[in-house]
Amino acid sequence: MQRRPLIAGNWKMYLTRAEAVTLARAVVESSSSCTDRDVMIAPSFPFLAAVCAAVEGSGVLVGAQNIAWEKEGAFTGEVSAPMLEDLGVQMAIVGHSERRHIFGEDNAMINRRLRGAISGAVQAVLCIGETLAEREAGKMLTVLDAQVRQALAGVTGEQMRKVVIAYEPVWAIGTGKTATPEQAQEAHAHIRHLLEEIFEKNIAGAVRILYGGSVKPDNIDVLMAQADIDGALVGGAALKAESFNRIIQFQ
Ligand code: PEP
Repeated sequence: MQRRPLIAGNWKMYLTRAEAVTLARAVVESSSSCTDRDVMIAPSFPFLAAVCAAVEGSGVLVGAQNIAWEKEGAFTGEVSAPMLEDLGVQMAIVGHSERRHIFGEDNAMINRRLRGAISGAVQAVLCIGETLAEREAGKMLTVLDAQVRQALAGVTGEQMRKVVIAYEPVWAIGTGKTATPEQAQEAHAHIRHLLEEIFEKNIAGAVRILYGGSVKPDNIDVLMAQADIDGALVGGAALKAESFNRIIQFQ
């Protein structure tokens, strides 16, 4: 099945407002010649509005780095789907390993966040991935299964149109250690097989599965050549126009 590639940049807690706007304009420029792929950038919350304005009319998608499960209420520090939609934000990252490991978000909370996003018009980018200790203990597939099943509990096949999965082995994030294309493909194929078990084959076949973890200009082409890798979630290399541009232009 043909899946439209998605290259997504996670800017984490980096960049000033001026730097974010300048980088967003550069992403618009570099993606303008690529009509066969989607490009998403996820700035920090305070600069979402400025970045949405900078990319307006370009087709570049804007994502939030997290999302609340309720529409409104007494949830200090949280931002809801309707608030993000109001700004023009189309996507939200949920379950990023930094949210899991630094802020203690578990699969149950990630499930609520994901359903908060897709109950409206916000597409969720669900991040999953094993730690090095889990991989070395031979638990990788069990961990991925639990993350997928629990984060997608209660999600219908129809709603899966609004879900993207990002396989991000924790040991590869920000470390300069990329999974080999074979390791990434093995995990992606397993995730797709699992989606077939949970949903139907045609639904599983349509879900985009991104790879994340030290994606750089010099490894994007070989990663994108794998059958089940449909794009990339990029951290460090998304913060510089030149490197992100090369990743967007993958062959
Ligand atoms: C990420 O933060 O999701 C990520 C993959 O970071 P990096 O590309 O820097 O490893």
